[in-house]
Amino acid sequence: MAFSMKDKNVIITGGGKGIGKSITEVFLKEGANVVFSGRNEKTGEETVKEFSKYSNKLKFIKADVAIEEDTQNLFKMSNDYLGSIDIVVLNAGYFPQQRIQDMTSSDWDTVVDINLKGVFLNTKEAMKYLKEGGRIVITSSITGNKVGNPGLGHYGAAKGGVNGFMRTAALELSTKGITINAVEPGNIMTPGMENVLGAKYIKDQESIIPLSKLGEPEDIAYAIIFLASDEAKYITGQSIVVDGGQILPESALDLH
Ligand code: NAP
Repeated sequence: MAFSMKDKNVIITGGGKGIGKSITEVFLKEGANVVFSGRNEKTGEETVKEFSKYSNKLKFIKADVAIEEDTQNLFKMSNDYLGSIDIVVLNAGYFPQQRIQDMTSSDWDTVVDINLKGVFLNTKEAMKYLKEGGRIVITSSITGNKVGNPGLGHYGAAKGGVNGFMRTAALELSTKGITINAVEPGNIMTPGMENVLGAKYIKDQESIIPLSKLGEPEDIAYAIIFLASDEAKYITGQSIVVDGGQILPESALDLH
């Protein structure tokens, strides 16, 4: 049992795969009604089928976070389906490996659009629907906020921008009694991590993480559910690092 989400109406972007899938599952297990988005309909519908055991109030809506019209549709259709919206989890993200010298301006735009503009567009839409007590929680990253990562210059810039955006959004939302916070995952075992970064990257990472292993998607989901809970009502504009201690060591000597 985590924090109760009984009868809360929740939107989760990128909720059908990886960390987002775990967030969807944890919210459903705690009693929430969930709409989640993504671009891949097949994955979305498979996740709905798999999680129908938890709730019959669960729906996938195809929507690209970086396209304003999709975002407007997502929120309108979710509001129609759920009746109201209490919590919005902005989780969708994309992290292709491209060293700066090989990165095109189109590569840059794609990554910044999904990871940063997507957060802006969805927050703007969320503001139209959330009421007093509403919550926005973002899946940010240690990359860009606490550390650099060769090959992820665009992604780090976007995720650093996300936290900067969140602080101002927290102030603008505070007058309405709505909070916005972020979780900064370290290295979490997901399809995105496996497919894009590969087995060698994962093994190398394990050797520099004090808790000696990559995180699991639910490690992020539980931090998010806390920030989305009624109990987290006095926290806004903050981010929680969930990284197995990865950003702590000053030198290799500090490890094990
Ligand atoms: P993942 O396995 O690749 O899943 C990414 C999710 O985002 C999928 O559901 C995908 O759905 C969705 N998505 C991607 N682009 C989208 C778009 N333009 N519009 C709508 N949905 C989109 O990645 P993950 O590892 O679970 O990452 C989830 C979040 O955690 C991201 O924000 C990522 O930056 C962050 N994060 C992950 C790690 C890690 O170690 N895994 C570390 C730090 C931060 P579709 O494929 O259906 O579009």
